Amino acid sequence: MGGRRKRKKVMKRVVHKAPKVFRCPNCDAISVTVSDEDEEVLVSCSNCNLSSRLEKVRNYEPVHYYNLFVDKYHSGEVQNKG
Ligand SMILES: [Zn+2]
Repeated sequence: MGGRRKRKKVMKRVVHKAPKVFRCPNCDAISVTVSDEDEEVLVSCSNCNLSSRLEKVRNYEPVHYYNLFVDKYHSGEVQNKG
């Protein structure tokens, strides 16, 4: 006897609730949402309609796409149409 028993504690998965609505670099409203589509992710502002489709990246969270979106906006790749 005397077997060493290693008990693995089942860790509860902590779910961080990441914000899902972000500030728009164009109109400054908190109305940018990130929606998951099949192959891409659509980042769009419901206030001024600024939007961009981004390629999906594994393990990216909405905030990462949002950051990309802001970068693109500042580099002139994303423009408000109309
Ligand atoms: Zn906007």
